[in-house]
Amino acid sequence: MIIGKHDKGDKMIQIDLDLQCSNCGKNVPGGIKASEKYYGTELFEKELELFQENYLCGICRDKKRLKN
Ligand SMILES: [Zn+2]
Repeated sequence: MIIGKHDKGDKMIQIDLDLQCSNCGKNVPGGIKASEKYYGTELFEKELELFQENYLCGICRDKKRLKN
């Protein structure tokens, strides 16, 4: 999973996160990737926040997919 903007050829860094499912509240250890250039910018922080707010664990994601 890549968060935020990245250009071709950008150096990507791996970031480990403790994610929490926004539906059932289950903790899911996970990781994302981000462009080294973009990481730490205000926009990146916002996108990361949004990603975390909307994060679903595998089970809830499957449930949602079946519903749709
Ligand atoms: Zn869940």
